[in-house]
Amino acid sequence: MEINDIARLPIGRRDALLLTLREQLFGPRVQTQILCPKCNNDLDLAFDVDQIRVPQDREPQEEFLCCVDDYQVTFRLPTSEDLLMVVHEREPDAAKQLLLKRCLLHVLDRGTTATELPNSLVDRVIEQMALVDPQGDVQLAVTCAVCGYQWEALFDIASFVWREIGAWGKRLLREVHRLASAYGWAEDDILRMSAWRRQCYLDMVQG
Ligand SMILES: [Zn+2]
Repeated sequence: MEINDIARLPIGRRDALLLTLREQLFGPRVQTQILCPKCNNDLDLAFDVDQIRVPQDREPQEEFLCCVDDYQVTFRLPTSEDLLMVVHEREPDAAKQLLLKRCLLHVLDRGTTATELPNSLVDRVIEQMALVDPQGDVQLAVTCAVCGYQWEALFDIASFVWREIGAWGKRLLREVHRLASAYGWAEDDILRMSAWRRQCYLDMVQG
C-alpha cells in the first residue's frame, strides 16, 4: 500500500493499521499517562491493543446515509487527507464546516437537493460520522485514582505511536553513543547487532 492510498483511508481504517504496526513494533501492552482534568494529577493508564481494536468489515462501506430533522444527508468518512486540508483552520466551527464540505456527497431538504447543511445540524452529522467509524474515535473510560473523577478520554493512536517511535530512536542513539565511546565500534556495526546482543554489551559497560 502506498502513502497516498493510506492518506485516503478513513481514519478508523488507518488507525486499525497503526494498532497492528504498534503491536508488531513494541508489543500489545500500552502504558501511558493521562492528566486528571479535575485534580491535575498524572495517572498511569494501561491496556492491551485488543481492548480498543474494533473489528473492520472486509469490504468497507463507502457511503452512509443519515436523517436529521427534514434533511437526508449522504456522506463518506473523513480521511487523513481531509484532516490535512482543515488542520490550518484555527476556528473549530470553520474546521467542521470545511471537513463536511469535503465529505458530504448529497444533501436533500424535504426531498429537494440542498447546497449546504444548516449550522445547527453540522454537529449531529459529525457525531454520526464518529458513530459509524468507532475505530477513528477511541474513547477510554477513565476513573481518577486520586479524586475519583470519571470521564471519557480520547486515545489517538497516531500521535501515541509517533511519540513512541521518537523516544525509541533517541534511546537507540544513546545506546550507540555508549557502546561507541566504550569500544570504538562504528555506528553501522552497533546497529546491525540484535537488541539482545547490544543489551549484553551495555550491561558489561555499565557493570
Ligand atoms: Zn483526579
